[in-house]
Amino acid sequence: MNNINENVNVNMQREINIKMNKEFNYNDIEHENNEINKLVRFNKNTTTTILNKVPYINIDAFNNFQRVKAVFSTRIGGISQGQFKSMNFCTHLGDSIENVRKNFEIFGEAASLNNFVLSKQTHTTNVRKVLKDDIGKGLVKPMDYDNVDGLITNIRNITLSTFYADCVPLYFYDPIHEAIGLSHSGWKGTVNNIARAVVDAMTSEYNTNPKELITAIGPSICVNCYEVSSDVASEFIRVYGQYLNIKNNDLSDVPWYRENIDSQDINNILYQKPDNKFMLNLYAANYINMLSAGVLPNNISIPDLCTCHNKELLFSHRGNMGKRGNLGAFMMLK
Ligand SMILES: [Zn+2]
Repeated sequence: MNNINENVNVNMQREINIKMNKEFNYNDIEHENNEINKLVRFNKNTTTTILNKVPYINIDAFNNFQRVKAVFSTRIGGISQGQFKSMNFCTHLGDSIENVRKNFEIFGEAASLNNFVLSKQTHTTNVRKVLKDDIGKGLVKPMDYDNVDGLITNIRNITLSTFYADCVPLYFYDPIHEAIGLSHSGWKGTVNNIARAVVDAMTSEYNTNPKELITAIGPSICVNCYEVSSDVASEFIRVYGQYLNIKNNDLSDVPWYRENIDSQDINNILYQKPDNKFMLNLYAANYINMLSAGVLPNNISIPDLCTCHNKELLFSHRGNMGKRGNLGAFMMLK
């Protein structure tokens, strides 16, 4: 792991011209589709919004591979109301199962996805090997598993499904053994390295070589929007301090935060503020997790779309003050 900083620098050369975090104006939804597309289309290496009646975000890192589909939803195009308006995928915050089922149906038709298998996220690093029998559990039949934050499969025409409102989606594709993985990485999943748990599971189940994996860190909260307490910051120093030249877990060594840090700057994870709060870059931490799992730097896509900066387009726990639904990340082998 000694060469991680070296790898980060190499990758930064590749990413140096990327722009990020343009804000989305909800009023523009009324405009022509191509106008919306212009607003939220960012970069060929990362994410692009495809517009039809139900917009969704294509994860461009997999565009060169015809047998895999990887997308991320927006909050537009569903039938849910109130804080769940409108494309909400979860019932645990109070939306009805009827609404959620209908949203899955609408979204599935728009994005050409079906046979959904759902995570049951509780900020663990547990990874489930998905089989055909899991299709529809928690949606059209009872769910008989719990505490599952990562899903893997090598079965075609099954849509792995995980859920978000600021946390980080991680997408994995093994084009050699034709297998996929998808996992939910909040701050707990990040410090506990669910990325590595998914890679390890794919290695043992599908004989995946991490060096052959194509991965993407999906749309999620950026460093400029994600303030955390010193308790959380200490957890990150404990795990990542060696890559940040932070000695003795001393938070005062963390560099100072300034406005508009490039959230794709993966050379640093934490910035301190004068009020003893910290700004945390989950993109960078997950990037290091991917490297630590053996994924090659050029095979890790960094997001340029922040949920909190785009709270009218995407559900954001922070941006919507907790009054929100859940977005979905989806991945399927075709
Ligand atoms: Zn942001």
